[in-house]
Amino acid sequence: MRLRRTFITNSQILVPAALIVFAAGCAAIQVSTDYSHSTDFAAYHAYSWLRAYAGNELWVDQIKRDVNQQLQAKGWMDSPTITRLYLQCEPDEDLDEWPDARIWDELLLRSSTADGWAPTVGPILQEGVTGMRSFVVEPMQFGRLFLAGDAAHIVPPTGAKGLNLAVADVAVLARAIAEFYRSGREDLLARYSEICLRRIWKVQRFSWWMTSMLHRFHHEGEFERKRQLAELDYLTSSRAAMTSLAENYTGLPLE
Ligand SMILES: Cc1cc2nc3c(=O)[nH]c(=O)nc-3n(C[C@H](O)[C@H](O)[C@H](O)COP(=O)(O)OP(=O)(O)OC[C@H]3O[C@@H](n4cnc5c(N)ncnc54)[C@H](O)[C@@H]3O)c2cc1C
Repeated sequence: MRLRRTFITNSQILVPAALIVFAAGCAAIQVSTDYSHSTDFAAYHAYSWLRAYAGNELWVDQIKRDVNQQLQAKGWMDSPTITRLYLQCEPDEDLDEWPDARIWDELLLRSSTADGWAPTVGPILQEGVTGMRSFVVEPMQFGRLFLAGDAAHIVPPTGAKGLNLAVADVAVLARAIAEFYRSGREDLLARYSEICLRRIWKVQRFSWWMTSMLHRFHHEGEFERKRQLAELDYLTSSRAAMTSLAENYTGLPLE
């Protein structure tokens, strides 16, 4: 078996290969959905992330999810001197309305803790807005062409499942490819999409549920907030609920 990584451009190309795996991440979705046989299932969430890179001192990895009072903020170190920061914002957020001082005001408000901890303020080096969506392409194969990872599906980040799903796709595909080259069997390859999609839709469900439990949205009222708090209360007091969360969070078994 000969493995080769090919860089695909906008033009049509002919790839001389028995099997083609298309795993070029979410930027490749336009390419992957150009096949008329596939159906795209997409849903857009009522929020985006305002992301900013800041030059500041090391501060602890921090994920702040304050369902009670404010919208979310999170940040982590990309290097010892660069922090990547995320602030939950509106889907159509206008970056012109976010001077550096406002970014830091919001970040300090959302991230500072009761014991006096607060992120170290530093210069904002770059900023942008990332929209949130869920997305699945069905089926994930066309003849001998197989889609894997973000090229075939996107989940909102709340469940931290994107990489897990990509690895699961590849595990299923690797087994099928090995069998194809070992014995000529094609049935595992033929079932690749069906096997992966069962897991993908369960992970879409889980990520959606986590998002609706942990994010607050401006358009939602008190009823929704109280439902979220009840959900969190149930989750932290019921062994059955905790077991279900742990089962999904650590990863469903591979078929
Ligand atoms: C800020 C952030 C935090 C995240 N946190 C988590 C987390 O905690 N847990 C989790 O499970 N997931 C997380 N994810 C999601 C996770 O990173 C992705 O779901 C995962 O990397 C998808 O893997 P992939 O191999 O499909 O795509 P990628 O990792 O995007 O890899 C695609 C590769 O294809 C290459 N490529 C692109 N275009 C072409 C082309 N035209 N030709 C050839 N090659 C090309 C790219 O260079 C890249 O190497 C996070 C993502 C982000 C952005």
